[in-house]
Amino acid sequence: MNIQMVDLYSQYLKIKDEIDREMQDIIRSSVFVKGGKVLEFEENLKNYLDVNHVISCGNGTDALQIALMALDLKEGNEVITTPFTFVSTLEVLALMKLKPILVDVDPDTFNIMPELVNQHIDHNTKAIVPVHLYGQCADMESLLEIARENNIFIIEDACQALGTEYIFKNGMTAKAGTMGDIACNSFFPTKNLGAFGDGGALFTNNHELAQNMRSIANHGMSKRYYYQQIGMNSRLDALQAAILDVKLKYLDQYVQSRQTAAELYDRELSGIREISIPARVSFSSHSFHQYTLKVPGKRDELQRFLNSKNIPCMVYYPVPLHLQEAYQYLGYQKGDFPVAEELSEQVLSLPMHTELTEGEQKYITSAIREFFS
Ligand SMILES: *Cc1c(COP(=O)(O)O)cnc(C)c1O
Repeated sequence: MNIQMVDLYSQYLKIKDEIDREMQDIIRSSVFVKGGKVLEFEENLKNYLDVNHVISCGNGTDALQIALMALDLKEGNEVITTPFTFVSTLEVLALMKLKPILVDVDPDTFNIMPELVNQHIDHNTKAIVPVHLYGQCADMESLLEIARENNIFIIEDACQALGTEYIFKNGMTAKAGTMGDIACNSFFPTKNLGAFGDGGALFTNNHELAQNMRSIANHGMSKRYYYQQIGMNSRLDALQAAILDVKLKYLDQYVQSRQTAAELYDRELSGIREISIPARVSFSSHSFHQYTLKVPGKRDELQRFLNSKNIPCMVYYPVPLHLQEAYQYLGYQKGDFPVAEELSEQVLSLPMHTELTEGEQKYITSAIREFFS
């Protein structure tokens, strides 16, 4: 058995004809940057999300930076986020010379705790960056209320949650990435909607912010060779847009197949006392960018055991950001975020992708049962 953490090649083979045709069209047109295909994809993604504006860019990290630039935050302004996320979320704050204020996460959902956000807001707080980790939304309804009361922005880091649905208390639903002032997405190959290289996008319902972000992503240009502000060079190329546009049609199907795989993992693993399967919440679906177990005490041992049976599994993330060397200057210490610190020693993500077979999953789950027997 050749189990993979993510199997992108088999996924490609199922839509090979469509993808190859689209790529040939782009090569024939030789419009590789900007051009109609990028706009077409933005339009289709906009309709999928039911959001007013989609602005593509180079990658998810750029998207976060462009969002912060568009909000015109000043050096030293405070932005609240979590230490239990991919580094980009924090990195861009540092690059922009903003002051990151980290708060701990919920031990079951791994997402930012609104109560703690509330406690850390002061006159200098300008934004909150919740991360929808592993494909499940943070508690947006509470965060939106906090943001409204304090007149601060929300930038959703939706890089792991494209296709996830949020359910408000009144029954209304919204796609992850359409609730904050701005949301950032990544099309990194292994993300829910993955390109064959790098890509990213910003979502917003605000027309002014949209225009501003489009300008920033394009060198701050207003009309050709006239620059109204300092920008960046961050764009999605036409080949990636063409690939993403094909795959977008299958996104819901992809989410569905990961959810089905998650249910099978749940059934096979829920009897094992020593581990916790991923918690679900009433206010969000789960697109299972990752299927992540908590394995108190024995995580590393289990990982080695599974690896010895040719089962890949990964730790996202082994060191919370406040304990990373690069971020020591923030002045945080071990013990400041006990939940994030504990999770970094307990989490283990199992193979999760659209092509996972029942046979592969049963092999994985029986290996886990064997380990604990
Ligand atoms: C992937 C990811 C990013 C960065 O996206 P890139 O396209 O790799 O730059 C940012 N935040 C989170 C939570 C991510 O998972």
